[in-house]
Amino acid sequence: MKYGYSILLGEHIKAESIDYNDCKSFQIVCPCCKEPVFKVIRDQEMGNLTHYLSHYEKAKSYSSVCELRVNALESSKINESNTLSRNQRLEYFLSILRDSVLRNEYSGNLSGLIGMFKQMEKSSSLKFMRDRFYEYISVSTDLNNQAHVYEFFDEYIREFTDISGGFPKTAFSVLTQKRIAFDIWKHLLSANAKSNFDFMFNNSYLFLMLRIERAKNVRLLYEFEEILYSNMYDLIVKSKDEGMNIITSMMEYKVSPPHSFGLDLLSKILAEIQHELLGCLLRVPYFDLLRKATGLRQQSAQTV
Ligand SMILES: [Zn+2]
Repeated sequence: MKYGYSILLGEHIKAESIDYNDCKSFQIVCPCCKEPVFKVIRDQEMGNLTHYLSHYEKAKSYSSVCELRVNALESSKINESNTLSRNQRLEYFLSILRDSVLRNEYSGNLSGLIGMFKQMEKSSSLKFMRDRFYEYISVSTDLNNQAHVYEFFDEYIREFTDISGGFPKTAFSVLTQKRIAFDIWKHLLSANAKSNFDFMFNNSYLFLMLRIERAKNVRLLYEFEEILYSNMYDLIVKSKDEGMNIITSMMEYKVSPPHSFGLDLLSKILAEIQHELLGCLLRVPYFDLLRKATGLRQQSAQTV
């Protein structure tokens, strides 16, 4: 395809004006399906160079309506393109968001935390829960609708301000933060970004546990919070069978008002995770990411 869409800049960008590393730095995705893309320069006959952007893996896509994909390369040419892409790695692209979230949300030594993330990735019952949640989100009309997600963001900001006296300021306006957070959200639901969706889910899961730990220091926990916390912890460390039993028991436990109206414990956890996931995307310092990307670009331009 001739154009990519930069999540950070919110603009469509011509393949010619993008360097190899820009796809990662500016978080450039397919304008149609929001999957990550990489840059390719093909040497045509007579020394004419053709610049274009390509999806990483055509087969993994859910998106049958992606028009741009229609013009994508045949499999033999994809292999050729991957070589031409100078080994840019999908994983590298995705790591930018993960690193930024970790730096923004946690301070100090991250090694213990990273160990916890690894354990969460290994847990089969947690994977089961995460995958069902992903399926639900993917088909939810509300959660794919910009106006609706913007309402979630506003609600999150109001709630955060009530509790903490203000929402963390970034160099971008709240409107820009919302626009980027929504683009990232859509991108997380694309097939090739599933590992980042998993990461964001796990991060929100941990965030919820930490929130309960903090509450425990200042007040008595409600019964449902005690159960929720110990169940969440057990889901990380216990075997698959034990974990699946815990999930069943959570579905049978009803959280009473005023903490919920008719929700079972599992739905309550997932509602909280969705809330924290969107909130976390809204807090990422996108301006700093962009400034870093611009700096890297200038550096590489100077070394050429
Ligand atoms: Zn696409």
